[in-house]
Amino acid sequence: MDMKRVMRDYFLDLDQAAKDPDRKVAWCTSVGPAEILRAMGFEVFFPENHGAMLGATRVCMETIPKANAFGYSPDICSYLTSDIGAYLKGITPLTKAYGIESIPRPDILVYNTNQCKDVMHWFEYFAREFDAPIFGIHPPTNVPEVEESHIADVVSQFEELIKVLEKMQGRAMKPEDLRRTCALSKEATDLWAEVLETAMARPSPLSFFDSTIYMGPIVVLRGTEVARDYYRVLLTDLKIRVAARVAAVPGESKRIYWDGMPVWGRLRSMSELFKSNQACVVASTYCNSWIFTDFNPDDPLPSMAYAYIKIFINRNDQYKEDYIRKLVDEYEIDGVIFHDAKTCPNNSNSQYNLPSRLRKDGIPAVIINGDLCDLRCYSDEQSSTVIEAFVETL
Ligand code: SF4
Repeated sequence: MDMKRVMRDYFLDLDQAAKDPDRKVAWCTSVGPAEILRAMGFEVFFPENHGAMLGATRVCMETIPKANAFGYSPDICSYLTSDIGAYLKGITPLTKAYGIESIPRPDILVYNTNQCKDVMHWFEYFAREFDAPIFGIHPPTNVPEVEESHIADVVSQFEELIKVLEKMQGRAMKPEDLRRTCALSKEATDLWAEVLETAMARPSPLSFFDSTIYMGPIVVLRGTEVARDYYRVLLTDLKIRVAARVAAVPGESKRIYWDGMPVWGRLRSMSELFKSNQACVVASTYCNSWIFTDFNPDDPLPSMAYAYIKIFINRNDQYKEDYIRKLVDEYEIDGVIFHDAKTCPNNSNSQYNLPSRLRKDGIPAVIINGDLCDLRCYSDEQSSTVIEAFVETL
């Protein structure tokens, strides 16, 4: 199944939905309860995905300064500033990619602060701008363990959200619809986990840079048959590549773990840099963020509450350290690269001594400075030098 077609169909349908008075569009954060929205008949748009598109196309370099001038600091999430700046300028990469004039107007905005609080500020701006209702899920954050009381708290917030959605749609939630979207989401996310695990093979059939592209449907189409079917085909294809020993990085000799956000505007050049050094980035915190194997269609709300609280970004230091160590073992990693993204401290794990703790136990680790979108915070030369020197020492 063609990835480009999957994403094109998704965006074109969303555009149609926004123009159709009989259909409703919800905006949702990337690790928000998209399953609930889909079960209630909403089409779902993910502003972070739009931010990543602005980053990958480097259009953000025109739009971030616009948001900065408008009063959004250059130090906060550059998805937010890219996206608000694009809105202020009246542009979107969707126009060039799919001929879509503008982002879909929201009927409701739903955020979840399980990842950070920037999403709240971001969605609040657009709620004011579109005069649309907004609903925030505020789970317990930075938890060592997910406790029953945490789950009960988030379930009751989900129930409040459902009441709001029911009022908007003028009908009650059908339990079978929620079970179905939860089941589809679980199937897709389990397949996504298997896709990423093919990188345990030597040589790996895919790298982090491939996965940042393959991950589109698990972010924007969770809870649909399209996402599930896409990952079924992709997994079959990757298994064939593993059997045939097709390498993502020909001559793979070093295996790297990437922690933190991608540098969206430099995916291609970074991929080439690693390739030319026979190093393959085989695992990452980022791509694993959309693995929700705890979803259970027979117990949808509690299992979704658990899975969405449990995510890596919402955990304490010890959990994060143990998680990375586990992946270092499983993927036979030679070294860990930490991307310290200037505008996303939430997803940068190098600032609280974690690289030093790994090094102490003989796991090589290095830090590069950069950003997810704002290339003013990133130096090609500096990063290449650090990465090449690091790979050399492994
Ligand atoms: S986690 Fe980071 S990149 Fe994602 S929305 Fe929050 S600040 Fe932005």
